Amino acid sequence: MPVDCIDIQCLPREWPDALPTWSYNTCAVIDLVNRWLPRRWRSPPPIPEPLWRQTLAAYPFLARLEAAERKRLRWLSSHFLLEKEFHPANGLSFDDGMALAIAVQACLPLLYMHAPSGQPVRHPLRVLDWYDDFVGIVVQPGAVLARRKSVDGAGVVHHYNEVLAGEAMDRGPIMLSWDAVQGTPEETPGGSNVVIHEFVHKMDMRNSRYGDAPDGAPPLPDRFMGTHSRTEAGRLWRHTMEQAYEAFREAVLLAERFGGEKPWLDDYAATHPAEFFAVTSEAYFLHRDQFANAFPSLLPLYDGFFRPGTLEP
Ligand SMILES: [Zn+2]
Repeated sequence: MPVDCIDIQCLPREWPDALPTWSYNTCAVIDLVNRWLPRRWRSPPPIPEPLWRQTLAAYPFLARLEAAERKRLRWLSSHFLLEKEFHPANGLSFDDGMALAIAVQACLPLLYMHAPSGQPVRHPLRVLDWYDDFVGIVVQPGAVLARRKSVDGAGVVHHYNEVLAGEAMDRGPIMLSWDAVQGTPEETPGGSNVVIHEFVHKMDMRNSRYGDAPDGAPPLPDRFMGTHSRTEAGRLWRHTMEQAYEAFREAVLLAERFGGEKPWLDDYAATHPAEFFAVTSEAYFLHRDQFANAFPSLLPLYDGFFRPGTLEP
């Protein structure tokens, strides 16, 4: 399933056909007041219990969470729903369950994270700062065909189409294909999850200058894996990721050229370091044991990034 976020030039920054703000069926005035309040003072509408249970049942990797984790995820998701606006496109019929399905998967990586600054969060809701550079989430019924343009080394311009299941725009909205969101992630080899994929791209972009492509190196938490400086932490991250990425690319090439066994993970991860980070993150959250077997060097790295608080003595 192709999922890309690197070349964003063909997607509009504004979405002129956006539908009214998602309000979770609450009074618009209360909704507006809530949005203006500091996050810790907001009181988002509670997620109805039947809807919550239905969502957990639809995504078994969520149901496997500990009770305390599910409680925290539900709380984060309710605030996420208050902060974001969903824009169904191309006639997609959109409902509460669909919004919640996207919210919980977007919030899953945040459960234990530090703030984008690297520091532990003073208030647990501050982890939502990772997604504070955008509001809109465009939901398409299915995959989207994007027109792309690239220039090769000889200066020749190439035009081509790319099928997208999702797209994250730097300082802009996220686009998701509902077909891909509601897929059967547990049964997909390598564990595909378009929501985690695109929101991890958002994390990655926090370390990129505006207009630059993400590179698979997000801002890291303070004292990342026992390091003593940001430089040391960044060097450790990049070195470990580069080695794993190159080994994966080689395995993909061997399978393609010589008929070797295909790697367990989706080979789309071999297209770019940012895609490697996003696709391996999907696997980290969906299939931790298989991920650990396939990428033993990445498990402590990702634990250090996504779960820094749990690793401290
Ligand atoms: Zn991608």
